[in-house]
Amino acid sequence: MFKIKEIYTLAPGTLHAIIEAPLIAGKAEAGQFIIIRTSSKGERIPLTIADYDRAQGTISIVFQVLGKSTTQLAALKPGGVIPDLLGPQGNPSEMGNFGNVAVVGGGVGIAAAYPIVKSLKNAGSRIISINGFRSRDNMFWMDKMEKFSDSLLISTNDGSCGRKGFVTDVLRELLDNKGEERIDRVIAIGPAIMMKSVADLTRNYNLKTIVSLNSLMVCGMGMCGACRVTVGGKTNFTCMDGPDFDGHLVDFKELMMRLDSYKHEEKTCLEKWNRECAGGPQ
Ligand code: FAD
Ligand code: MG
Repeated sequence: MFKIKEIYTLAPGTLHAIIEAPLIAGKAEAGQFIIIRTSSKGERIPLTIADYDRAQGTISIVFQVLGKSTTQLAALKPGGVIPDLLGPQGNPSEMGNFGNVAVVGGGVGIAAAYPIVKSLKNAGSRIISINGFRSRDNMFWMDKMEKFSDSLLISTNDGSCGRKGFVTDVLRELLDNKGEERIDRVIAIGPAIMMKSVADLTRNYNLKTIVSLNSLMVCGMGMCGACRVTVGGKTNFTCMDGPDFDGHLVDFKELMMRLDSYKHEEKTCLEKWNRECAGGPQ
């Protein structure tokens, strides 16, 4: 059993939970994730370790409420418990002094980008963080990002904060030297379509680009094969071989198709839960 220390809304439909998990907090590294079950009969879902505090023995998750499992998770209160939590899973992100690194985050992906920004900065890289939101109301953790970023850039789809447009617009301007600094590496974390757009852009500049994949995942331990992705023409498991991959080699079309495979079941499952179980037994 893992106790929820704090849980609160960061932005509409986006929550932050701080969970007591001392063994995981003691080992977690940037880029890793946990597999969580919100009830004893629930499905397994992967969520990135968005922060950890080794002294306090806590880990943070930031999640978007999309379907049944994240709705159940959002209903938990401080003092409540998560019955199953496995981690840290996946390979830590590569760290080092890589020169000027543009870390591009979109929406809830910004929470997953945060520990990478923090660790990369501590490893000597210069960080240009590019953060994309739908609107000003959806923004969160810019104070935390600013602390470890040499330059913090924001884009919103509606122009309510920062540059109007997409993260790729901001990145393109930097790459075309309209910004002040040369970029040595790009890391992109967010919706698959955003990571694909970033990789398509940087391919033209022959610029190393790492993406953190969010493929469908069940066991998180390399056994079930649900999270398989094609990278450089070869089958990889996101849980064991990733989640970070060379963005120029990922078959994003296949990834996006597989992410949508169970849309109908996910919709009816959430409707059924809302109808029959919300607030009652799970
Ligand atoms: P559902 O209605 O079941 O699904 C909604 C959509 O979420 C689906 O259409 C599908 O695209 C995706 N999804 C559904 N089930 C899974 C699954 N088992 N694995 C992956 N994606 C799924 N989301 C966050 O909000 N914050 C994170 O930090 C985060 N980190 C992730 C890290 C990794 C390594 C991976 C692979 C995914 C991560 N995700 C994260 C995605 C998250 O797991 C899904 O949003 C979640 O499983 C949706 O559950 P649901 O039952 O509420 O929604
Ligand atoms: Mg689900």
